[in-house]
Amino acid sequence: MSRCLLVSNRLPISVNVTEKKMTINSGGLVSAIRGLSSEKVGFDFEWMGIITNQIEKELITQMSLDSICNMKCHPLYVDEKVFHDYYNLYCNNVLWPLFHYERSMVRHNQEGWKAYCEVNKIVAEAITEEASEDDIIWIHDFHFFLVPTFIKEKRPHLKVGFFLHIPFPSSEIFRELPQRKDILNSLLLCDQIGFHDLSYLNHFRSSVQRVLGGVQPREEVLGVYPISIDSELFHQLARRNETSEFLKTYQSHKKKMRWILGIDRLDYIKGLPLKLSSYKSFLKKFPEEHKKIQLVQIIIPSRIDVPEYRILKEKIEQKISSINGEFGSPDWVPIQYIFNSVSEFELSALYQLSDVLQVSSRRDGMNLVSLEYVISQSPEQPGVVLLSEFAGAHSTLSYAMSINPWNIQETAIKMKEAIHHPLQKRKQEIKSMQNFLFGYNSSDWAKLFLRDLLWRPNENVKKSNTFSNGNFPWMEKLKSKKVLMFFDFDGTLSPIASRPKEVKTEAKTIELLQLINNSPNSEFVIISGRDKEFLEEQFIDHDLGFRLAACHGAYSYSPKDHTWVNLIPNGPLKWKENVIEIFDLYTKRTPGSFIEDKGHAITWHYRQSPREFADFLATKLFYELEEHLANSPVQVSRGKKIIEVKSMNANKGFFVQNWIQSSHNKPDIVLAIGDDATDEDMFSVLQGRNDIESFCIKVGKDKSLAHFHIDEQNQVNQFLERVLIAINSK
Ligand code: UDP
Repeated sequence: MSRCLLVSNRLPISVNVTEKKMTINSGGLVSAIRGLSSEKVGFDFEWMGIITNQIEKELITQMSLDSICNMKCHPLYVDEKVFHDYYNLYCNNVLWPLFHYERSMVRHNQEGWKAYCEVNKIVAEAITEEASEDDIIWIHDFHFFLVPTFIKEKRPHLKVGFFLHIPFPSSEIFRELPQRKDILNSLLLCDQIGFHDLSYLNHFRSSVQRVLGGVQPREEVLGVYPISIDSELFHQLARRNETSEFLKTYQSHKKKMRWILGIDRLDYIKGLPLKLSSYKSFLKKFPEEHKKIQLVQIIIPSRIDVPEYRILKEKIEQKISSINGEFGSPDWVPIQYIFNSVSEFELSALYQLSDVLQVSSRRDGMNLVSLEYVISQSPEQPGVVLLSEFAGAHSTLSYAMSINPWNIQETAIKMKEAIHHPLQKRKQEIKSMQNFLFGYNSSDWAKLFLRDLLWRPNENVKKSNTFSNGNFPWMEKLKSKKVLMFFDFDGTLSPIASRPKEVKTEAKTIELLQLINNSPNSEFVIISGRDKEFLEEQFIDHDLGFRLAACHGAYSYSPKDHTWVNLIPNGPLKWKENVIEIFDLYTKRTPGSFIEDKGHAITWHYRQSPREFADFLATKLFYELEEHLANSPVQVSRGKKIIEVKSMNANKGFFVQNWIQSSHNKPDIVLAIGDDATDEDMFSVLQGRNDIESFCIKVGKDKSLAHFHIDEQNQVNQFLERVLIAINSK
């Protein structure tokens, strides 16, 4: 099985060297991949990440991780000093603040960049040594912007995807970065680049255009995939006994008080001082709320060895004690503050008990806490999310109450509104956000990214499977066998023309087809999306005696009877399964969108979805459907906030299936050759049959279900010649 090699700064495990034990860490990415690896997605997942301790490295290499996370881990050793410069001096002192619009925190330096290049090279080398041709590489986050460059230098055909977990800033900010060109050029080498939010993608696109002087990124490699959470896990967590214990204890403390909850890592991006200012303003404005409300603020320790973070912590603590001093009383503390991590059970209890969650991030790639809060709410007494419009989660949580954390006065008023938000509204809003999160969890996020990465045309077609040397190894097999062939017309027997009506089949092709038609033991059908009249003009009028199928197999012509037969006046709608599968993937990602099945047509509606995001996805969906279904028995159309696929009641796959089924004399070998999406239906049917040996050939280099490729249409005559020789050889 091919592998998906995940590459992130750290491995998803913690190692206890003394006890020789390893535990798997929690986190969004880990849960997404764990969920996915238990499903059958056609890959084995393996993880690559940096280790600076030789003993830990040995331990990880020795110990099997299968029992912990079903994933093999590859520790990549980096010297501690180099790691320090790469991680602290460049990742955290340059990229992190700049990408979060915190320009005053940026500390440009050369040592950091040098180490960053070195580490990215080490990681890329490990990947190119480890990966085999069929593996795919999925790089995570800003630590490894240069890895694509170093991979593609050595292995240009390796499939490389990149996902950015932080915002991509406006080009006005990004273009300040001294190393901007190296980073953009590297990302442009990827086969898929994913962002949490459409605005991040737009910033990336405009940065490329501005910084690289008019270069346009390939639109098809850019995608928006907001990360999600393991919704089921959080839902279950809320019902665990351990959580109930915390619920009981806290409930007795909380009594009738209302809680505004904050769960933030210690970081300047989280806007903690802004949150405290808005709370202070709230207390000033609304004295009637005193003693009825409490802000419960958990701050998860992070990077306290760094002076800037220590200063931030002191500033926050001063603010908290000043507010408590100014407004508190012996029987009421306005802010309960905890500087520590909490267990998952305690976290779930806090989520459930709090009336409001407040996220005041100045910038935040996504913000998982807000999603976890939503999924943990009870349907009977749900809370409200006050969410900064500068957090990526803002696009996912369509019913959160937006705040601009910089507007202290307005935020204070929103806090009051959130506390008194009517129950009926809260119920509806939480339900709709929970439905969305249940339908689109962290595994769906990973699946969608990988699907798009894999769907890209594969330029890495194996040479032995192409017709470049004028032969396919299996052609020998055709001699003295009963061979049935299905030939597509446009793009296969005839080149694609700008005026389709004026196409004339080349004399040489006609001659070869006639010779094949006259060969014993062989039979072929020309199967086209064209109508009956066109095929009559091309073939019947010249009395060539070929079997034909028009309208993707809706009509069949037999030269014996000289008649057309309508095969599927009310044919089954197998294409629908495919379309629903694709529609589903888009529905999951687009809050408020839904699918309508109209029998002969199927429609994706997105009128109630976030406008810009849904329009962007609708364009992607439209092109994807066209690519999959163009010239097929369906018609894809884009209406007002809808995408519709309508049946044209025919499919080459059915035709091939029916033809084989109704043959009196079953063929030994079936060949199918075609160039576009409709021909994939033939390939799919043939490859699904174990009773007949079949060879499917794609004309063109695009990715296909066919295992064999003829790169150019002008090689098809040569292929027909080879077929003729093969079927006539004794
Ligand atoms: N979390 C944690 N320890 C705690 C409390 C929370 O690890 O004591 C988790 C929380 O459940 C969430 C994550 O930390 O999954 C924070 O993710 P978020 O995207 O909100 O912020 P980040 O820290 O990634 O910037």
